[in-house]
Amino acid sequence: EHIGRLREEATVMRIDGFRGRLITGGDADYDSARAVWNGAVDRRPRLIARCAGTADVAAAVRFARDHDLVIAVRGGGHNVAGTAVCDDGVVIDLSQMRAVSVDPADRTASVQGGALWGDVDHETQAHALATTGGIVSHTGVAGLTLGGGIGFLMRAHGLTVDNLLAAEVVTADGSILRASADDHPDLYWALRGGGGNFGVVTTFRFALHPVGPLVLAGPVFWAADHTTDVLRFYRDFAAGAPDELGTVVRLGTIPPLPAIPDELHWRPAIAVVCCYAGPIADGERAVEALRRLRTPLVDLLAPKPYTAHQSATDGTVPHGWHYYWKATDLVGLSDDAISVITDHAYRARSPRSYAVMFHMGGAVTRVPHAATPYAGRDIAHNINIDAVWLPADPEEHAAAETAWARRFFDALQPHRAGSVYVNFLDADDDAGRVREAYGDRIYRRLAEVKAKYDPDNTFRHNKNIRPG
Ligand code: FAD
Repeated sequence: EHIGRLREEATVMRIDGFRGRLITGGDADYDSARAVWNGAVDRRPRLIARCAGTADVAAAVRFARDHDLVIAVRGGGHNVAGTAVCDDGVVIDLSQMRAVSVDPADRTASVQGGALWGDVDHETQAHALATTGGIVSHTGVAGLTLGGGIGFLMRAHGLTVDNLLAAEVVTADGSILRASADDHPDLYWALRGGGGNFGVVTTFRFALHPVGPLVLAGPVFWAADHTTDVLRFYRDFAAGAPDELGTVVRLGTIPPLPAIPDELHWRPAIAVVCCYAGPIADGERAVEALRRLRTPLVDLLAPKPYTAHQSATDGTVPHGWHYYWKATDLVGLSDDAISVITDHAYRARSPRSYAVMFHMGGAVTRVPHAATPYAGRDIAHNINIDAVWLPADPEEHAAAETAWARRFFDALQPHRAGSVYVNFLDADDDAGRVREAYGDRIYRRLAEVKAKYDPDNTFRHNKNIRPG
């Protein structure tokens, strides 16, 4: 009976002229097509419209609207809240639209809306060029960019959105628009941090910069016992770091990566992960004091291809494991904040759970606040507490890991800056936290642009900005 109903639904789910694939519950690959990076997300869309190009995207948007079906938009499928997939409605799936083309003469790249950062780095590095992307290569370009985009290159070259020159966008009425400084500048502004609220981006055009192909990069790990000392040192080291040096702190256990001796696997440790986007010799000088701080458990900071660095930790956060995040921007790394972090970071039950802190600053702070909706330009550090467990783990593991993340987050309350990176919000972060991501003034401006381009809130299965 169930199969019969699905077949019946499938016959109704036809989109005229659609050149990609339409996947419904009757298809053998329906379950893999509806799966997203976070294996804890289990939603059953009525239709997955796997688009072949922009015309398919426009047709799918019109179809969903005509049939009064909710729309979810899938870029890389990485959002922890699982907003790329919905129950009952239509998933506009861009996973087959991953082309990247580079113009080395004017140092730009054209990137389709379903590309992953590994696709971009692969093509741009063929010309020893890059733009700021995420720190895991299987993360989607679209969702990351539309929320702001933070990564190792941001201190030298700005947020991902600071490098976004133009976008092709399918809006709620199925129109295909170009957004840039000259075309629909209000839409162009909103796309640079306002998330997937304004339409489906089918192509991004990015500015590129000379990077690599070899960079001085990698983590230095110290035993967890030294966390207070390492963080106190790091606070000053990061504050004085040149813009070329991007760093991320990881607190958890040492992942079982091939480059790390077996006896160190799963030991509680703090790592400072570096990437120097400039000459190797300058990088060696920039990290010298960090390396001298105290004897590390393992030091993997070495010259390596930028693409190798960008994919080095891919295996530590694979698709299909279960994830829950709590995040906040931090006022600073005071001694009190450091003691909260030291106290909570290693209390997770799962050795796969961890916390990660990005060091901001540099070029991020030099872009005027009004230029984009990204609100956290003045903060020096944020923190993302990542609870991780396996699909086969008993139910109580999920409860224990999420409780750890929430307790850690609650303990950070006095140190929260009042802003949060929208792309780190999870499903239980409510509309209040979306406002927190932007602040009232920017949120109101985003709501005005939303009212102009999506007055009916067609794109609402996301970190939603209500039309206003
Ligand atoms: P999806 O889940 O596909 O999409 C998320 C939302 O974005 C959708 O619901 C939709 O609203 C919107 N969207 C997606 N595609 C489009 C499109 N083509 N047009 C319009 N809207 C669209 N963020 C950083 O900034 N820096 C990092 O280094 C970083 N590292 C990460 C590492 C991991 C392992 C993970 C899981 C996430 C990381 N993130 C990072 C967060 C990341 O920015 C978000 O998860 C982001 O949503 C991923 O984009 P996606 O396209 O893969 O997501």
